[in-house]
Amino acid sequence: MLPVSGITVGVSVTVVTYFLNVHILLSIVAGVAAYFALNAWNERQPPLKSSYDYIIVGAGSAGCVVAARLSEDPNVSVLLVEAGGSDDTFLVNTPLSSPLLQRGELDWQYKTVPQTNSCMAHANGQSNWPRGKVLGGCSSINYMAYVRGNKADYDLWEKLGCKGWSYRDVLPYFMRSESNTRFRDSKYHGTDGPMGVSDLKEVNQHSRLFVDACDEVGIKKIDDYNGESQFGAGLCQVTQEGGVRANTSRAFLRPARGRANLRILTKAHVTGIVFNAQKEAIGIRYVVGKKGSAEQMIQANKEVILSAGAVGSPQLLLLSGVGPKQQLEQLGIPVVADLPGVGENMQDHLMTGLGYYSKLPSYTESSVGTLPNLINYLLYKDGPFQSNGLECTAFVSTGLRDDLLGAPDIQIHCFASVGNVKDFKNLNFRTEFMLEDMVKGKTINGMTFLPILLHPKSKGA
Ligand SMILES: Cc1cc2nc3c(=O)[nH]c(=O)nc-3n(C[C@H](O)[C@H](O)[C@H](O)COP(=O)(O)OP(=O)(O)OC[C@H]3O[C@@H](n4cnc5c(N)ncnc54)[C@H](O)[C@@H]3O)c2cc1C
Repeated sequence: MLPVSGITVGVSVTVVTYFLNVHILLSIVAGVAAYFALNAWNERQPPLKSSYDYIIVGAGSAGCVVAARLSEDPNVSVLLVEAGGSDDTFLVNTPLSSPLLQRGELDWQYKTVPQTNSCMAHANGQSNWPRGKVLGGCSSINYMAYVRGNKADYDLWEKLGCKGWSYRDVLPYFMRSESNTRFRDSKYHGTDGPMGVSDLKEVNQHSRLFVDACDEVGIKKIDDYNGESQFGAGLCQVTQEGGVRANTSRAFLRPARGRANLRILTKAHVTGIVFNAQKEAIGIRYVVGKKGSAEQMIQANKEVILSAGAVGSPQLLLLSGVGPKQQLEQLGIPVVADLPGVGENMQDHLMTGLGYYSKLPSYTESSVGTLPNLINYLLYKDGPFQSNGLECTAFVSTGLRDDLLGAPDIQIHCFASVGNVKDFKNLNFRTEFMLEDMVKGKTINGMTFLPILLHPKSKGA
């Protein structure tokens, strides 16, 4: 019997090895093909013109969508300008590598000014502020948790004067943008939009335990925090398609980029908006290449659309003379419009991390970064590499805020990992505030809770 089974095993191992080799080879070929396809696409782009009907500044989460929608009309010309480059890389596409995308080339690497009342565990009292500098913007480096925001938040915006931004107004657009793989027949979800939204194929057991534990203490288990009610704890849905990050570049821009009326200019840093004597935006100034390279200008026949993000958009307005007069004059910037609110009212969801040891296996570098896991991902887009790490979340109310129209004031993220030194460096933590075992490089199983203030009272500029 033994030799026979030996032969059988030998044959099947050979077959499996052959199968794996072919697939790994195919994956590599697909990767190389994608790289050349991107280069070919870049070269195929029409020459840059001196004017476009619409100029969109910033090809991030918003900019890619706007460019795709505007260029549906073949009678208008659209230019999309982005400071970063291609997003089509293995690290961007692979969900678990999200933490590796910070503090590198794809990140603007902002820091807050040193804080006096917060960030006390941070180097120099400064918090890192990751922002994507790449096609897709922050949607190319974020954690992919598909969270729309609370109904009451939108209704509050409308109450404050943002017409067209109530929950009832925005829901149809959420539904139209997504292709949800679970909620196929729901009044809250769409199934044939361009952006993939799905459940994770597999989650670490800590994530399920977190949801169960919340339920035990009265934070009820919910199926869909983007549905009827956001309150409760549940597994995250993610902006992924078949285990691959579905950033806005992949979902919206790539299907549109072959259009003759859409030009995408990457690695171009916009330095200002050009205004005419009537204070109308008539173009942009930008530089390509190294800092200090000569500025160039492109004209906009109809509109300049700013989608450079929460930091980039106000920064560009200020540099272009739109903002508080006194501040602009102090910096020698000619004033186009005295608008005191520009650059003010910055709000962030403050959070802190609480790590706990566990006896159960969680995501650690040594347990996740194995060849079988990599192969499983390359072949089937499955296993730990398809996880965004942030697999579950909870929305709760402390009952301390009666000004939120019933929206939760706390969200608790939960990671099925205590992370490593690099993760804490992403947050700019000082080494003495990290676990001793972590600093020593020991493997720690555990989980991290991240309680977040959703409506902080503190505001910045
Ligand atoms: C690390 C991280 C994790 C996150 N995780 C989640 C999550 O799990 N779920 C979730 O819902 N949200 C998450 N977010 C938030 C979410 O990704 C952002 O709110 C959203 O992507 C912002 O979109 P935006 O279009 O406003 O800006 P961005 O996506 O930042 O786009 C702005 C674009 O403008 C470009 N730009 C800026 N200035 C210039 C200039 N001068 N010239 C040319 N181009 C310029 C930038 O390079 C960028 O591409 C996360 C964010 C980060 C940073």
